[in-house]
Parts: sequence; C-alpha cells; structure tokens
Amino acid sequence: MSLDAACTVRELRESFASGRTRPYEWRIGQLKQIVKLVDENQDEIAEALHKDIGKPPFESFISEISLLKASCKVVIGGLKKWMAPEKVGTTITSFPSSAEIVPEPLGVILIISAWNYPFLLSMDPVIGAIAAGNAVVLKPSEVAPATSSLLEKLVSKYLDGTAIRVFEGSVAETTSLLEQRWDKIFYTGSGRIGKIVMAAAANHLTPVTLELGGKCPVIVDPTADLQVTARRIVAGKWGSNNGQACIAPDYIITLDFFAPKLIDALKSTLENFFGKDAFQTSDMSRIVNLNHFTRLTRLLDDPKVSDKVIYGGERDEKKLIITPALLLDPPADSLIMADEIFGPLLPIITVQKMEEALEFVNSRPKPLAAYLFSKNKNLEKEVVASISAGGMVVNDTVLHLTNHNLPFGGVGESGTGAYHGKFSFDNFSHKKAVLYRGFAGDLGARYPPYTKKKQSMVRCLLNGDIIGLICALIGWGR
Ligand code: NAD
Repeated sequence: MSLDAACTVRELRESFASGRTRPYEWRIGQLKQIVKLVDENQDEIAEALHKDIGKPPFESFISEISLLKASCKVVIGGLKKWMAPEKVGTTITSFPSSAEIVPEPLGVILIISAWNYPFLLSMDPVIGAIAAGNAVVLKPSEVAPATSSLLEKLVSKYLDGTAIRVFEGSVAETTSLLEQRWDKIFYTGSGRIGKIVMAAAANHLTPVTLELGGKCPVIVDPTADLQVTARRIVAGKWGSNNGQACIAPDYIITLDFFAPKLIDALKSTLENFFGKDAFQTSDMSRIVNLNHFTRLTRLLDDPKVSDKVIYGGERDEKKLIITPALLLDPPADSLIMADEIFGPLLPIITVQKMEEALEFVNSRPKPLAAYLFSKNKNLEKEVVASISAGGMVVNDTVLHLTNHNLPFGGVGESGTGAYHGKFSFDNFSHKKAVLYRGFAGDLGARYPPYTKKKQSMVRCLLNGDIIGLICALIGWGR
C-alpha cells in the first residue's frame, strides 16, 4: 500500500468510480467482515487498548468491542431498507408526476479519529461510510499507536483494500491528507484541530462532520436518589476511560445545602469501586501520555484552586496516574473551569437555586452531553426544553451513546453532524431528490408568451382557486 496521500486518494477514487462499492452485496460483505474482524481479534484489540491507555480489558469489551459489533449488526439489519428509494408526495405544480428520495454514496471519505476510544471511534464511522457505499480512508490517532497499527493490520487483512484503507501518521501525514479533495471529512477530536480540518475542507467545499467535545455538566437536584446518582456519576467519569471521554461528566452543579451529602456519597462510591488506594486499582485506565498528565497536573496546581481540592489528586508521573480528584467550587476563572478537563478531576459547583444551575450551563458553550439527576418531573421538563446540548441523559450518564436509535453528535462548539445506526448511513449519503414526469399533461400556460388568460390561470392554480381556474379556462371574467 502506498503511503502517499495523493496516490491513495487517486486509487480510491478510481475504485469508487468503477462502481465497486455501490452494490448492496459489496457493502454487506464488508460489514460482515468487520464483525468477523472483531470476533477473531478481541484479545489483540484489548491488548492494544491496554498498551495505549491502560484500558481494563472488561472496559475495552464493553465500551469498544461490543459497542462496535452491535453498531455493525444494526447497520447490517437496516441496510436494505435504508438503501431503498423513499417515495414522497407530489404537488400541483408538477402534476402529473411521481417523486422519490434516492440515497447515493458521496464518494471518497476521510475519517480522522481520536485516541481515547481509538478502536470504536475509528471503526464506527467506517461502518457508516461503507454502508452508504463509499470508499474510505481511515486516519487513526498517533496518540494511541498500538491500536493505530493494529487497525492498519486488521483492515488490510479483512477488508477490501481497493476501497478501504488505513493511513497511519500524525500531524504531517494528516496535513497531507487534508490537502486532498474528499467528498466528506469525518473528524473526531478537539475543537482546536476541528478548526484546522474545517478550514482545509473549505478549500474544496467539502462537507464535514465534526465530533468534538466540551464541558459536559451534571445537574444534581436534591430530589435525586443519592446512592444511585453517585454510582452513575462515578461510573460515567472514572469508569469511562478515567474521564478521558468526550461525554464524561466534566463538572457537577448542585445546591449548596446538598453538596456535602453528594460529596460523601461520591467519596464512598469511589472507594467501593476502586479501593482506598486508587493507585492500586486495575479497573481504571491511566492518563494517555505525559503531555496530558502535565496538562492535568497544571489544572490541579493552578493557584486559584489551591484550597479547592477536597479529595484525591495524588500523582504518579512514572505510571501516569492521577487519583480521582474532587474539587469544591473552583472559581469560574480557574483553569479547570476554562476548558474541557478530559481526565480524572471533577469540580463540584454549588448554587443557591436550580435556576442558577440552568443559567450557569446556558451561559457556556453548548456541551456535547448534559446530565440531570432528579425526581422532579417539572425540572426534568425544564432542563430538556431549555438546555441545548448534543445529547442528554436524565438520571444517568453516558448511556445515550449506546442507543443506536439516537443520533450521536454535538451542537455549536461541541460539533456538527451526527451518526450511529441509521444516522450513520444518512451522514455518509446524499439524499438525491428525483422527480419523474411523463410527456402527457403538458400545460401550455407555463410557457411564454404570458397572455392574460395564461397568467390568470396560473395565478388561480397556484393560489388553489379552483373556481377561478375554471372561469379562466372557459373565458368567464369574475
Ligand atoms: P487527537 O490528539 O488524537 O487528535 C485527533 C486527530 O487529529 C488525530 O487523528 C490527530 O492525528 C489529528 N491531528 C492532531 N493535530 C493535528 C493537526 N495539527 N492537523 C491535522 N490533524 C491533526 O485527539 P484529541 O484532539 O486530543 O481528542 C480529544 C478531544 O476529542 C476532546 O476534546 C474530546 O472531547 C474529543 N472527542 C470527541 C468525541 C466525539 O465523539 N464527539 C469522541 C472522542 C473525543
């Protein structure tokens, strides 16, 4: 396989132009191969994930391997129906006619993925791109090198290399890929690089999907079940890649009087899950690399939060571990409240009233996910109606990602476009509008010269004035 970006795109474009990727049989064959790839290599995939991020094998199974397989099976199950043209109604202006929406592949797709779920986030969009009949280049993240090279090995072994390729590399390689003309770019990662991707795409007017991140709030109302709430927050934060997840809880916001109870419940849940000495647990991923470790320690060492760390935050630089940390009321201008944390630190912000919590969330960029814990149905309604976020979960965290009937994606600064299930197929398809007409019923009134009679007929027709139309036709003035 050539590692020249221009050459790769040219070869894939030829493959796509040959029509190879369009038939249902090719698409379904490749999707079944992905299921096989996963089934036959589960241990190797889990090993690579452990090497890259210290991901516990069980977590790899739950949040990467089984999710990917489930995603592929849903697409296999729905594909025939999704590929079929959809008949739609017609209007009087084109009478007589019929109309349908025909999904067609976009062409050659570039998928750039992130390091935190390096298997799932690479292969899940590939499933959508193949399902929609495209050729595709996957650029995995160099920050997870073991998974990146495993993906290269497995994709070239199991999938059709004339149309599906892995292109490994970091900034230089991605830059050369971004210089090429693509029919769609699907990027997962930070907003900072998202801007580079979008600018490169603009050069060729290429559409983009940007799966970005942001600060995901967890609003905890005092009516919530304390123990279940604590468990679900801890699982969504530290049990999901140790906070290195785009939809991990970024901060909690709750009422002042309720915070001490919630903090106690979080502490005891953390100890139940990971033991008294979190350095010893094998049930939590480590920090991905020294850069991110340094970035996170900077958040803890910010003088503005020196007296705000109320639990954990011990570090082992050699092992790249920071123990789960809770911070109480870090100031709004502290580093930890400025950007997405993406690690094992969890600030708790207290307010006097729930309205303040909603105002706080709404005064910040729209998050990728927002969570509410409450038994108060009115509050639930208000939060769903008034907080804009990519997705939302009431009384849990993270789980919306596992429901393939829900679109997964951001809004505003947390991203643009969505995928999963049928939304993946739609994301990589163009919905072509097709109107069919015969040669009969060729109404002369639409053609020049525009006589008074014709104008009157057409006006009556477009205004739905049937009596006027009949009068115009038989020459009666009204
Ligand atoms: P990353 O460092 O792995 O970068 C993502 C991709 O961008 C990589 O493939 C990398 O090679 C490429 N890249 C890096 N620098 C580049 C440059 N200068 N030019 C072109 N390409 C470049 O991942 P990251 O950005 O650290 O990922 C973390 C972010 O991703 C977080 O903000 C997180 O919330 C977000 N994220 C979002 C989702 C989602 O589904 N919405 C999922 C995971 C992560």
